[in-house]
Amino acid sequence: MGFLNAIRAGAPSLSFEFTPARDAAGAEALAERAARLESLAPDFVSVTYGAAGNTADRLDNSIRATALLARATPAARLAHLTLAGHSRAELEQIVARFLATGAEGFLALRGDPPDGPTAPWRAAPGGLTHAFELVRLIRALSPAPIGVAAFPHGHPSAESLEHDAAVLALKQRSGADFAVSQVLFEAEAYFRLRDRAATAGADLPIIPGIMPITGSVRLDRVETFSGGPLPPALSERVAAAASGDELSRAGLEWSVELVRDLLVGGAPGVHFYTVGGAQATEAVCHALELKGARQLGRPQP
Ligand SMILES: Cc1cc2nc3c(=O)[nH]c(=O)nc-3n(C[C@H](O)[C@H](O)[C@H](O)COP(=O)(O)OP(=O)(O)OC[C@H]3O[C@@H](n4cnc5c(N)ncnc54)[C@H](O)[C@@H]3O)c2cc1C
Repeated sequence: MGFLNAIRAGAPSLSFEFTPARDAAGAEALAERAARLESLAPDFVSVTYGAAGNTADRLDNSIRATALLARATPAARLAHLTLAGHSRAELEQIVARFLATGAEGFLALRGDPPDGPTAPWRAAPGGLTHAFELVRLIRALSPAPIGVAAFPHGHPSAESLEHDAAVLALKQRSGADFAVSQVLFEAEAYFRLRDRAATAGADLPIIPGIMPITGSVRLDRVETFSGGPLPPALSERVAAAASGDELSRAGLEWSVELVRDLLVGGAPGVHFYTVGGAQATEAVCHALELKGARQLGRPQP
């Protein structure tokens, strides 16, 4: 429960998201990345649940990564779990397996259809359809904290932004304790999401998702990650970068300004997608003296 208190206190909380490794070399890199970020004293680390790969592989990879993080860091472990491709009975067994492996909370998700986020959804035989049902299933089995997904630009197949916010409120009523947003690149998108959620009756803490753009992040995937267009000022800076180093510098400056604006505006914490490596995340945390970088409070406006 410790990390949930940190999120609720809005101290602000700090968390890092990792993708499971597929082989021994990947596992070593993951352990190294986690150990490096450990000095920043994250409140929790999370492990994604592979969209690709067969059902057994994605589960085994996530379980292994959760166990690895349990050895590599004292931070709480949050297991992402998607209901896609699983029956209800399988999901119950998976929840138990994650808890036995060191997971201390869940991010309860639907997952995307195999043909992409906007493809028609088909439930697995004996399975669930929406994330709120998975929240209920986990809540019935465990008191562990449960997070859910939130979408600053709306989920790609949402009927409307208002309906999307109503879905978030439903997830909260089903037992969700907090939400983590899709990657965002402008603070205003977060504040608009928070306002819509409040209007729909969802007052759970929403942690904004941050992904610093670096020379190693595939730019063609950035808009897919965020579900919305890049702000024009960021696109200009990205286009003007003449090298990977310049791009990383521009991405770092943008992320520092973004995180500062979010925290000043009352975001309860920040959740870093570490897909571009540990260095950029570390640099943003140090620039803003977040958590372990200096036992810091909220930056002053
Ligand atoms: C922070 C974060 C982490 C993620 N991690 C992973 C991961 O590890 N692995 C992975 O595969 N994917 C991950 N995803 C992607 C996620 O699985 C997809 O975005 C998926 O398409 C939606 O998941 P959801 O949990 O929001 O689903 P849902 O809440 O079920 O929503 C899916 C769609 O159904 C609609 N809907 C929901 N409830 C209802 C209802 N009661 N009535 C009518 N319509 C409804 C929603 O509006 C939405 O359009 C992550 C996303 C985020 C934001």
